[in-house]
Amino acid sequence: MNTQAASTTLDRAASDAPGLAHLVAAAEVGAPEPDDEIPLYAPRRKIYPQSTHGLFRRIKWAVLIVTLGIYYLLPFVRWDRGPNAPSQAVLIDFPSRRFYFFFIEIWPQEVYYLTGLLILAAIGLFLMNAIAGRVWCGYLCPQTVWTDLFFAVERLVEGDRREHMQRDARKWTVQTWARKGLKHFIWLMIAWWTGGAWVLYFADAPTLVRDLATGQASIVAYAWIGILTFTTYALAGHMREQVCLYMCPWPRIQAALTDEYALNVTYRYDRGEPRCSVKKAEQLRAHGEPAGDCVDCLQCVHVCPTGVDIRQGASLGCIQCGLCIDACDNIMAKLGRPTRLIAYDTDINVKLRIEGKPSIYRLVRMRTILYAAIIALAGSVMIYTLATRGSEGISVIHDRNPMYVQLKDGTLRNGYTIRIVNKQLKYRDFLINVDGLPSTLVEFVGLPPRADGSQQLVSVGPDQTKEVRVVVTDYSTTPPAPSASILFRLTDINSGDVAEMRDHFFGPGGE
Ligand code: SF4
Ligand code: SF4
Repeated sequence: MNTQAASTTLDRAASDAPGLAHLVAAAEVGAPEPDDEIPLYAPRRKIYPQSTHGLFRRIKWAVLIVTLGIYYLLPFVRWDRGPNAPSQAVLIDFPSRRFYFFFIEIWPQEVYYLTGLLILAAIGLFLMNAIAGRVWCGYLCPQTVWTDLFFAVERLVEGDRREHMQRDARKWTVQTWARKGLKHFIWLMIAWWTGGAWVLYFADAPTLVRDLATGQASIVAYAWIGILTFTTYALAGHMREQVCLYMCPWPRIQAALTDEYALNVTYRYDRGEPRCSVKKAEQLRAHGEPAGDCVDCLQCVHVCPTGVDIRQGASLGCIQCGLCIDACDNIMAKLGRPTRLIAYDTDINVKLRIEGKPSIYRLVRMRTILYAAIIALAGSVMIYTLATRGSEGISVIHDRNPMYVQLKDGTLRNGYTIRIVNKQLKYRDFLINVDGLPSTLVEFVGLPPRADGSQQLVSVGPDQTKEVRVVVTDYSTTPPAPSASILFRLTDINSGDVAEMRDHFFGPGGE
C-alpha cells in the first residue's frame, strides 16, 4: 500500500480512537509530498515467504493434500457400468460425446446440467464471499494450491526466507546453481504430472498411461501435457502472486460483492496500535500512555505469499489465506499476550470495540439467506431431474419447406425429423404415435414395412441416438385448424417406457 493509502487507514484509526492521533501526525510528518511523477509501472519485488505453523497453515496443508490427491488420483478410480461402457468413474468422452461422473451419465443434449453446475459454482462463490471474504482465493483456488506446493519445494531445496535471501544475495556458487537446478527440475516434474493427470480425464487412464509411456498416445495428448506443464510451471513457479494481483478478475468482482459484515482477515488496530517494542510498551504504560500489542516484528508480512502488510488495511493483494494470523499468534504466544491480534473479523467490530461496544457477527443476513436459497433451489431441481429422467428421449424438428403437402383427396401431410435417444446399454425397439388429431398415420421414411402390416418400429442400438424421417398424414374429414398442437409419443415396446415431445401440424393458412 502506498503512503497515501496508509495515511487513510491511520486517519480512520485516529478518528475511531483518540489515542491513535499521534500516528496520523507521525505519518504526515514522514509522508512525502504528492508526486505527479509516480511511475505507472512498479517493478516486481521478489517475495520470499517465510514458513509458519498454526491452525490456518494446517487447514491449508489439509486442503492441499485433499484437492491435489483428488486431482491426481481420480482418473484411476473405476466404476462398473456394465459391458460396452467405460469403467472410469470420471470421464469426458469426446468421441462418444458423453460425460461420466460415477453413476451419472450426461449426454450432449443434457448440457443444461453443466449450466446448472456453473450457476451453483458461481452462487457458492458468492456465498463464501458473503460469509468469509476471499476464502476461495486463500484455500481452494488452483493458483493458490499449486503455488503453495511450489513454495514448499522452494523452501525444502533453497531454505527458508532468511537462508534463501542470503544465498541469492551472495555470489552464486556451483552449489547455488545446483540448488536452483534441482528446484526447477522438481517444479517441472510437478507441472508435468499436472498436465499428465489432466489428459487422463479424457480417456481410459490406465490405457492412456501405457500409451504415453510407449509413445503410442495421440499427438493431441502429448500437446496438452506440454501446454499444461508449461502453464503450471509458469503460473505457480514464476508468476505466483502476479496472477492474483494483475491477472485474476475475482478480487475486483469480490470487492464489489462484499459487504461490511463479511469476515475478512483483519488487523485489529484497536488493539495493536500504537505499535511499539515490548520495552517501549512497558515504559509508555508506566507513564499512563497507550501502547498497542503489535511489536512491529513484521512476521505477518514475512509469511505473506503476496507480500502484503495486513496492518495497512484491506487490499486487493490479500488473498485471505490466514497465514499472517498464524504468524502473529505465534509472536503473541511467545510474548504471553492474547492471540488473534490479526483475525477473521470486520471493520465494524473494530469500530464498535473502540467505542466500547460489543462485537456483532451477522453470518445469517439477507444476502447469505438468498444465496443459500438459490443454491438449495438449483441443487434440488438438478437432483430431481437427474433422479427422474428417463433412459430414452425424443426431439422433433418440423420440416421448414414445405410446411405441409395437400394430396389430391384433400388429406394433409407434414414431415418431421425425429431424433431418438437410447441411454440403455442394449438394443431397444420403439414405436411412435401422434396425439392431437382425429385420424393420423405415422410413417417412417426409408424403413421397410413390417411383415404383419402392423405399425413400423425403430430399432436403436445400445447407448446410441438415431435420426429418422417421419411423415404424419391426417385423414380426418374435418380440416384441422391452420396450426394444431400435436404430441409425439415414443414408446419402448418391451418395457413400456415413454418419452414425449410437442410440435405442430400445419394446414392451409398455418404457414
Ligand atoms: S495479508 Fe495475511 S491473509 Fe492476506 S495474503 Fe497475506 S498472509 Fe494471507
Ligand atoms: S506479526 Fe503481529 S506483532 Fe508482528 S508486526 Fe505483525 S501484527 Fe505486529
